[in-house]
Amino acid sequence: MFKAFLIKYAEIGTKGKNRYLFEDALVRRIKEVLREIQGDFLVRKEQGRIFVECKKEYDYDEAIGCLQRVFGISGICPVLKLEDRGFEELSKEVINYIESIYSDKHKTFKVNARRARKNYPKTSMELNCDLGEVILDEYPEMKVDVHKPEIVLNIEVREYIYVYSIVIPGLGGMPLGTNGKSMLLLSGGIDSPVAGYMIAKRGVELEAVYFHAPPYTSERAKQKVVDLAKQVARYSGPIRLHIVNFTEIQLYIYEKCPHDELTIIMRRYMMKIAEQLAKDNNALGLVTGESIGQVASQTVKGLAATNEVCTMPVFRPLIAFDKQDIVDIALKIDTYETSILPYEDCCTIFVAKHPVTKPNINIIKRSEKNLADGIDAMMETAIHTTEVIEVK
Ligand code: ATP
Ligand code: MG
Repeated sequence: MFKAFLIKYAEIGTKGKNRYLFEDALVRRIKEVLREIQGDFLVRKEQGRIFVECKKEYDYDEAIGCLQRVFGISGICPVLKLEDRGFEELSKEVINYIESIYSDKHKTFKVNARRARKNYPKTSMELNCDLGEVILDEYPEMKVDVHKPEIVLNIEVREYIYVYSIVIPGLGGMPLGTNGKSMLLLSGGIDSPVAGYMIAKRGVELEAVYFHAPPYTSERAKQKVVDLAKQVARYSGPIRLHIVNFTEIQLYIYEKCPHDELTIIMRRYMMKIAEQLAKDNNALGLVTGESIGQVASQTVKGLAATNEVCTMPVFRPLIAFDKQDIVDIALKIDTYETSILPYEDCCTIFVAKHPVTKPNINIIKRSEKNLADGIDAMMETAIHTTEVIEVK
């Protein structure tokens, strides 16, 4: 029955003079996701509102599903769009609306009218009272409650008149592309896809890098990462995934450095390479799925040691999250099932039985001196032989 949606947005309303940039980015993203489904949708801005109009047959649930993946939307309101044919006609439409939406009329309600078009003959207050009366006449079982009504019947008088009472929650966050781009270190685990999702939610576009160590990590492990990127891309938009061949560097570290320092040193080289790729691709920050204390390399000292090699900001949105909270988000965004597939990842293969949990940066740096002969050339090769997959 609905041929239009009114899109509510929260935070972008606070951006002052730059507000239009945020609105335009939101409109762009809405158009993009709706292109994935059948139908012909017109997305337009009108005085602090975004409307989606459905010009052809479309699937309601599918359209809502798409809009519920758009960052920056706080609510999706299916609206009736009516021509102004006088109050009588409006009253009839409002009654039809209530009739078709609410099978049980034992509800409290209030009318919340807004007259954006000032030449409309009734004021907002008059509309509230008069429509309230019409509704009470038709449905004596309904009751007015102006403080905590179960139904808020919104009437917006513009060039057309819009009627809505349903607000389907959106994801919140900021529209994509309003905060530059960052490089996500994407492993096959549970955490990094969630971290990417969270940063994208703040309007940041993503590229991703995966450190692959064939033959120690299989094609299946790589495919798993591609699949995870695909899943994140449903929210974040297309992701360019850089696959770095990390085998030579890993073996070299394994050969030259103390085994209990392997993980930390390896992580430091991952960060260095990721930062270089970020710079080469105009990304402004790095994103990881690290969380304090989760594994040996993620003690505060461990994090300090990995952090020390980067000059770019490293975003760690999960830093204070408990595992279960991360899992909950992974379930919500549908990455969990893929993340728990049991394929080896490159960190688990070379991992020592008793890795250092309180690495001393000076000692780590001394160990890294053992790599001086070969590591620069290896890093260069790794960066130049990176495979790029466009994930949509
Ligand atoms: P995740 O669940 O994201 O794999 P984790 O708990 O397994 O995280 P680590 O393996 O210590 O933790 O990795 C910490 C972070 O380093 C990951 O969240 C990810 O951002 C990055 N990372 C680890 N391994 C790789 C890899 N092979 N390729 C790309 N990034 C990686
Ligand atoms: Mg991991």
